[in-house]
Amino acid sequence: MHLTHLSCTACGQRHDAAVPQNVCTACGKPLYAHYDLAAAGRTLTKDSLRTRGKTLWRYREVLPVRNDADIVTLGEGFTPLLPAPRLGAKHGLKKLFIKDEAQNPTGSFKARGMSTAVSMAKQFGLKKLAAPSAGNAAGALAAYAARCGMEAHIFMPRDTPRANVIECQQMGAFVTLIDGLITDCGAEVAKRKAAAGWFDMSTLKEPYRVEGKKTLGYELAEQLNWTLPDVILYPTGGGTGLVGMWKAFDELEQLGWIGPKRPRMFSVQADGCQPIVRAFAAKEKFATEHLGAHTKASGLRVPKAIGDFIMLDLLRKSGGGALAVSDDEMIACTKEVGAAEGVFPAPEGAACYAALKQLLTAGQVRPDESIVLFNTGTGLKYLECYSA
Ligand SMILES: *Cc1c(COP(=O)(O)O)cnc(C)c1O
Ligand SMILES: [Zn+2]
Repeated sequence: MHLTHLSCTACGQRHDAAVPQNVCTACGKPLYAHYDLAAAGRTLTKDSLRTRGKTLWRYREVLPVRNDADIVTLGEGFTPLLPAPRLGAKHGLKKLFIKDEAQNPTGSFKARGMSTAVSMAKQFGLKKLAAPSAGNAAGALAAYAARCGMEAHIFMPRDTPRANVIECQQMGAFVTLIDGLITDCGAEVAKRKAAAGWFDMSTLKEPYRVEGKKTLGYELAEQLNWTLPDVILYPTGGGTGLVGMWKAFDELEQLGWIGPKRPRMFSVQADGCQPIVRAFAAKEKFATEHLGAHTKASGLRVPKAIGDFIMLDLLRKSGGGALAVSDDEMIACTKEVGAAEGVFPAPEGAACYAALKQLLTAGQVRPDESIVLFNTGTGLKYLECYSA
């Protein structure tokens, strides 16, 4: 609502927010939205939030859509920050929380980004949206496009969980399955979009999905009474949630709601696809593509992310890190989380708990710290993982 302009995350070039944009026209890197936060802060107050709706649109002033009429919503966001006392007690942890993103429409936090991005597409009068997806982004795009009568053209790897494919088809999307990875799906969208008249909704190649994801950061702060946790573990694919939260923390500080202290951010990846973990360990600025990527956690099967340098920078600045876990550990941890807390996590969510065990063993996280695990999606979409 108080959106002023977009600027490039790499070269800083300013871009017009009044027309559709993808990446920086000068250097090809992601664009970020900027707001007049002084103006936003005049009506977005801690007091005003008490009476607002329990969706991410409660942070209306720092979301990009100009007119309320263009908001495309299914009730996304403001998911519970669940205390996890029984899981925590196994390790002597007193302040362990699960941010349960499975409770979003379409069963994953991809709903957040698609709600804001499809709303902006509506504002711009776009009609045909396209995206590559490892699974959950596809379901969310199909849902939000259907919600406002747009076409969704979705490209997914052939071995994407069946639930993701079926939900897209049942919500009227045009689904193409590709023999390859999400990067191959992205290449297919890039090749066909001009002739087909599609707008590319790829993560971080479209500036507003991250705006929806950043509300994770606003919610964490609000739900912890305007403090931030000591440690955040986030299962990382394209990294939109990770970079979005970091952006939110900066905005919250500018709004005067939090101080300069930040959580230690840990990126969790899979043994079979860990480009960020490798680049972090090698102290690199950009990540090299992870060749032959494989993992059952389809959301983590992203061998190369356009926002790699933003992630690596924030992981370092936060004093956190990056670590990988095996598929077997994820599946074992799913049952541990489920049986202890009544949350059936996606393998990506369970991966955060597996990673937490590693951090505790290594002494990188202390038991008295407040720790947030992100359960980014529902285990119900991954039943193939349990068929044996
Ligand atoms: C997409 C996805 C992720 C990765 O999210 P990014 O923000 O792209 O890093 C993690 N978990 C699940 C369940 C996902 O669908
Ligand atoms: Zn640039």
